Amino acid sequence: MLKERIRELEVISKQLDGTSTSRDEWTEDVIHAGLSFLDTLRQQKTYFNPVHDQSNNAPDTLWEPQETGVPMQDLLRTYQSQIWNHGINAASGGHFGYIPGGGLYPGALGDYLAATGNTYAGIAYASPGGAKMEEAMIRWMNAIVGWGSEAGGTLTSGGSLATLTALIAARDQYISEPGQLEHACIYMTPQAHHCIRKAIHLAGLNFAKIRSIRMNQDYTMNLEDLAKHLADDHSQGMIPFMIVGSAGTTDTGVIDPMQEIAGLAHKYGTWFHVDAAYGGFFALLPELLPSFKGWEKADSIVIDPHKGLFLPYGIGAVLIRDRKKLFNSMRYSAAYMQDAEVDAMDYSPSDYSPELTRHFRSVRMWLPLKFFGINTIRAAIEEKHLLTKYLYAQLNQRGWDMGPQPTLSVFLFRIGHDPSTNALNRTIASLIHQDGSQFISTTTLEGIFWLRIAVLSFRSHLEEADLLIQLLEASRQKAASIIG
Ligand SMILES: *Cc1c(COP(=O)(O)O)cnc(C)c1O
Repeated sequence: MLKERIRELEVISKQLDGTSTSRDEWTEDVIHAGLSFLDTLRQQKTYFNPVHDQSNNAPDTLWEPQETGVPMQDLLRTYQSQIWNHGINAASGGHFGYIPGGGLYPGALGDYLAATGNTYAGIAYASPGGAKMEEAMIRWMNAIVGWGSEAGGTLTSGGSLATLTALIAARDQYISEPGQLEHACIYMTPQAHHCIRKAIHLAGLNFAKIRSIRMNQDYTMNLEDLAKHLADDHSQGMIPFMIVGSAGTTDTGVIDPMQEIAGLAHKYGTWFHVDAAYGGFFALLPELLPSFKGWEKADSIVIDPHKGLFLPYGIGAVLIRDRKKLFNSMRYSAAYMQDAEVDAMDYSPSDYSPELTRHFRSVRMWLPLKFFGINTIRAAIEEKHLLTKYLYAQLNQRGWDMGPQPTLSVFLFRIGHDPSTNALNRTIASLIHQDGSQFISTTTLEGIFWLRIAVLSFRSHLEEADLLIQLLEASRQKAASIIG
């Protein structure tokens, strides 16, 4: 009876593995869909808001699992019509909003390999090669900063989780009793990314004091104000716990004065955290590397391969100057892990990560980096930097009112110099979004509504930049006639 039932179930469950032939078919269908998406990318919109077109909205039943399976082709049709054509097309070279990246195709192929083998790469014992691969990715990023073998880090799903990981390591170094929390002070400017606040919350640091540091005209951290806050807190017996500097802010792309912040952090024994999630990989360019000088004195750095290395979304990294500090916070053990500890001396990613079982995400980084070579990636990053200068100069020439010169690949611009033209600029933005052929985002600083361009999709080239200029000019004229 028991065996009969098992046999019955086996017939059904074997469908999960398919046959060599059916796997070929599934793969062909999926790959065909993916490749035709890429082949037609240039004809597709960069932004489409389905709110403007209710007829395109799918019923929820499309997403809900049902008792019986649905043919692969039907599922792909749903995917094509509901995912690829709705919202922001983040693969498009016309994506100049937020922080784009593009998503290198070999990155997707790396994911394919990782998931196909279902490799368990968190522990050296389970995958010695996988652990080495991740270690090599971390080592390479540490070398960009100028760090050697005493440094460590971990790959995360993105910058936010990398930030949380860094803050936990910092907390464990500075806070050993509950009473210390309310004396701990964190220093950052209003331009620090909101994921810092979220990580403060998630790391249980809510009761720490956040000192909002004044900014210079160009939105970088004001050093006198930082020095004053540190001195005041120090003299009042507070704990100057952490300074957060940005190496490439999201709004304007500027880099805080790393060298001087590092000096102050050293003076007060403060943890220096650098948020280079967006900007970090620009340090691969010899001409920009000097702007980062001083970040090698940081205690932790967050850098996002899904931004500056153009990888598909879902890969960030935290780098720690002294790997022991991360290990101390993240290394746990249990009886059922005893087999894995035979080789405990080997590097295991899970010893440096909040995760145990995890996506083998280093493959999506290793495959494109090794395949194209760093040179090719560096060329693409330089192209984005120069394209940004080109766009800035072109818009300036055409009479737009420009924000600060771009440091990396982000800048702000608008029509007018004060809030009285906010409505006009808002209309320009909404006309661009309605058109959807190219995409930009906006921000508000001190009551002034700005248009914002970020060039970091590896598919953005001169042609896309020129199309964007045309769209901006047309939208500006149209907005002027609407507003009157
Ligand atoms: C994108 C970004 C983050 C957050 O990273 P996610 O990968 O989106 O979680 C943090 N800081 C800066 C400066 C960023 O640009």
